[in-house]
Amino acid sequence: MNRNNTAKKRISVTAYLILVVLAIAVSSVVFLCVNYRRCSDYSFTQESFLDLRNWDKNSSPLILGKGWQFFPHELLTPEDVRRDARTFAATGVHEYDSYDNVEITRDGWLNLGSSYTLNQVSPDLESMSEFGAGTYHINLLFNYDVDYVTINLPDIAQSARIWCNGKSVRHYGIVSTDSDSYSPTEVCADIQLQPTETGHIDLIINCANFSSPYGGILSSPAVASTSSIEHIKDATRLYLAVVYVLLLGFLIGGFYISQTFDGKSKFYFFMLIFICELLFEQFSASVTLLPGTWNYLIQVTLLIFTNYWTFLYYASLYPKGTSKLFDKLHFFEMTFFSLLTAMYLLVYWCFPKFLYLQSSTLANFILVLITNLYCMARVFYMVRRHDHGHYLYTLSVLVTTFMHLAIFVRTQYYVSISLHALILLFFIMVYGSYFIMDYVKTFEELSFHNKNLESAVDEKTKYIAKVNQDLLKNHEKLLENEEARKKMLSNVSHDLRTPITAIRGYVELMLNAKEPLPRDQEVQYLKNIHTRSTQMEQLISDLVQLTRLESENDTLDKMPISVKEMVHDLYMLYHAECEGTDKQVLFEAPEDDDLLIDGDAKKLLRVFENIIVNAMKYTRENDIIRIICHRYDDPAMLGGNAVEVIVKDNGVGIPQNEVPYVFDRFYRAENSGINKTGSGLGLSIVKSIMDKHGGKIWAESEEGQGSEFHIVFRASEFNFDEEPEDEE
Ligand code: ADP
Repeated sequence: MNRNNTAKKRISVTAYLILVVLAIAVSSVVFLCVNYRRCSDYSFTQESFLDLRNWDKNSSPLILGKGWQFFPHELLTPEDVRRDARTFAATGVHEYDSYDNVEITRDGWLNLGSSYTLNQVSPDLESMSEFGAGTYHINLLFNYDVDYVTINLPDIAQSARIWCNGKSVRHYGIVSTDSDSYSPTEVCADIQLQPTETGHIDLIINCANFSSPYGGILSSPAVASTSSIEHIKDATRLYLAVVYVLLLGFLIGGFYISQTFDGKSKFYFFMLIFICELLFEQFSASVTLLPGTWNYLIQVTLLIFTNYWTFLYYASLYPKGTSKLFDKLHFFEMTFFSLLTAMYLLVYWCFPKFLYLQSSTLANFILVLITNLYCMARVFYMVRRHDHGHYLYTLSVLVTTFMHLAIFVRTQYYVSISLHALILLFFIMVYGSYFIMDYVKTFEELSFHNKNLESAVDEKTKYIAKVNQDLLKNHEKLLENEEARKKMLSNVSHDLRTPITAIRGYVELMLNAKEPLPRDQEVQYLKNIHTRSTQMEQLISDLVQLTRLESENDTLDKMPISVKEMVHDLYMLYHAECEGTDKQVLFEAPEDDDLLIDGDAKKLLRVFENIIVNAMKYTRENDIIRIICHRYDDPAMLGGNAVEVIVKDNGVGIPQNEVPYVFDRFYRAENSGINKTGSGLGLSIVKSIMDKHGGKIWAESEEGQGSEFHIVFRASEFNFDEEPEDEE
């Protein structure tokens, strides 16, 4: 049953994961396709055609409007410059004498400076700076013998994509550090363009900002049409707003949800990574807030931190002691990643010039790749051994890797904000739903266990209360018993000592007599001694019987007994005793019913005799004793099938307040009379016997009016008439 459930759960989670992976794959492909736009798909802000066939390629650079420079055939390398410098030092003459202001560009090519300009201005292109951001189409026609032209774009200060003859050739994302002394050398790489065989250069410039050292927003057409920069800005803002709102919701929800988690800190840690990713997004090449190197420095710092935190996050998923292998590696890996991070940050902060080298991106890429592959390997190794967090951890390591790498994919000119943005959005949603699903599941399990726990606690509380009550009762009973035992002991010693004292008194009288006592007095004394010793004997035999009855070893020797017969025999005995006196004993019983019960004959005889003897004892000369036997049909009494014996007299009775105590040991009512001998044990013996038989006995009495003793037994199932006949 449980196994089935677990299997089902696994299948549903696996299906969920497959869906997520499929969705990721499909959305990635879709967005890659959507993002792939040919340059001809743009709508253009400005289009112009410039015929440069008459331009002499050996003359100075051609400057188009706001600093658009073309240098045909001049692909100089740093080596050329160094050689030129050596020539100049040796001969005092420049090898390339037309290039005085030579500088090395960030791509390692040369910027030939602006010292040689030819103000051949194209009125159409000049309007680019007026229009500002937008997409410009420039069709240039060169002479057939122009193999290359080098283009500098000093006025495009930020974020541009350039296509040449349908091929993407450059993506700018860097601005100058210093807005006042704006230096084109840092902004514009020399871009080499190759005309077609017919001498055409079809140039498309998708430009986010013009002539400003501050950043603009460059977006691919997937986010908005590039025809209007306002739309792009709006779309980007909208996207960022959505991401941040989602993140905020996720953060607030996660905060509350995480209250119920054990690993709260991990949630916050993960959120931190997410925020870093977002900040990275915010400061990435597409959306620039700070100028130049600072911007890039922040990006790199965030990237490195994100990377480091990612590693720490995955290292924290399985605490120490879960795996021997990673326990051993722990120190090494911490040191390795810490040093690597420190080194990277040091290089980037101390030698910012490195930022202009393409190799830095590659280095970042390799670092991130190493971290992510290592984290992946770690998580995959662990999830195989520990069930805990299985899917969440696998998913998160995949997402993080994917997100990290997506940044680098984007920096490689082709994919811009929209793809990354949508992937991020998608993952935030996937994560959100995963956390919520996990939370709901945990919450449901928790409330289920809570309920169980509550009812278990209730049950136990009730049970404890009951046990407590029983204990209290037992305690009271024990106290009562102790009291009764003390009372009994004093009663026994008193009741035994009284006859002994009397006997000793008579014996002493007889022994100490100086003269022989007259015979009748002697007889009287001996009679008294006899009575007292009989009384003592009775008391001792009663005590023995009571003790025996109360011991667990005393069993009943049960057999079917006719109550009518037994009581009738006793009646006959006492009826005869009363002959010649005014006392009367009467007997009533149904004629056709033997009134059978199951009981111990000897003990039952004691019950009936004791009650009848008491009645005889506590009645006066003219009183009447009635003995009534009958069936008792009241369903409330022993299930309605009972036999009752009532012994009723109109004797001295018992005071009302003493009736409940007459069955107690040694209890004798005040009016029982000093001359009526008795130990007060008879009725307690009767009560014990009745209890053993599962019967009931009670007394009803009024002082001076008489008493009624009711004895009720369960009737026997046995029927003499149905007794099977002996087999012949
Ligand atoms: P005792 O040996 O004193 O008769 P029992 O246990 O037989 O002891 O009776 C307890 C007390 O109940 C008696 O002392 C007496 O006061 C009272 N009692 C019992 N039967 C009767 C009765 N039929 N009429 C009046 N009092 C009775």
